[in-house]
Amino acid sequence: MVHETILVVGGAGYIGSHTVKYLLEKGYNIIVYDSLVNGHEELIDQSAKFYKGCLSDEIMLEKVFSENKIDAVIDFAGFIEAGESMKRPLMFFENNVGNCIKLLRIMLKFNVNKIIFSSTAAVYGVPKKVPITEDDEKKPINYYGETKLMFEQVLNAARTEGLKSIKLRYFNAAGAWYNIGEWHNPETHLIPLVINTALGLRESIKIFGVDYDTKDGTCVRDYVHVVDLAKAHELALRGLLNGIEGEFNVGTGKGYSVKEVIDTVKRVTGKDFKIEISERREGDPAILVASPEKFFKTFGWMPEKDLNEIVSSAWSWHKTQLETFKKK
Ligand code: UDP
Repeated sequence: MVHETILVVGGAGYIGSHTVKYLLEKGYNIIVYDSLVNGHEELIDQSAKFYKGCLSDEIMLEKVFSENKIDAVIDFAGFIEAGESMKRPLMFFENNVGNCIKLLRIMLKFNVNKIIFSSTAAVYGVPKKVPITEDDEKKPINYYGETKLMFEQVLNAARTEGLKSIKLRYFNAAGAWYNIGEWHNPETHLIPLVINTALGLRESIKIFGVDYDTKDGTCVRDYVHVVDLAKAHELALRGLLNGIEGEFNVGTGKGYSVKEVIDTVKRVTGKDFKIEISERREGDPAILVASPEKFFKTFGWMPEKDLNEIVSSAWSWHKTQLETFKKK
């Protein structure tokens, strides 16, 4: 049984709340800090201690650090919509970079020097080759990816001030576990949208572009089950506490096209629904598939769940939420 105390910033979000539950199962003491702007209080496990606050609120953050003896921080807090980042770049830079720097300053002031940071495949932009390895060129094509890459660089620079970090570059998180599923308002992500269509909450699903240079013309992504991601955080955390640092892709190494995702949803749910062919969405690279080798070599483990399990877990969860969704 472990006893370290971990501060999970953004622990009321989709990936954060799964990780909190998984870490609690493993015996960690958990403190959640979340503004609840995008997070949901009901997702926070009752065994975690909770502080409501924004990353910009230095007084509140200092209170958290002075009231608790924290061993390491996991930072999930951040704006994540790539499309929105193109419309509101200042908001993205301010929160994803500026406010996260405040967090680092306060951490170091309280002698906490270990952090796991939620980064993204978006740091790579349009990859020159797939699967993508960690040292491939990083050339984001949206401000979301730009802010995440910039903060990775801040973390690297802060090593001279004693900071130790692991950056996890997530590919496409999806699926449901612990009775927590993926939903955003408004929803833009493929898997929840297709499932909502299968549930009859939408008339059709749009495919954004069928003329990409891929196996069937539609974009290919690497979908990772959210509970696999939660496990990846625990492994990374153990590693960080034992002196490992660096950046890691967290993906499966397998890519599925938009059409394949839709076909999987049709097969798993037994529902047929209308598909519309639409224009390409701005800022979408044709293929994003991770090489999970570095994570595997360092931690001896890689994601276990495939697209079928992602879709079937999401389907089961979405069905239980049908009445709630109808009201949204
Ligand atoms: N996509 C689509 N129709 C939709 C939503 C998404 O064809 O209604 C495509 C999108 O263009 C991308 C893939 O599905 O190629 C995954 O998109 P998502 O927004 O889920 O994740 P992203 O890869 O953008 O982080």
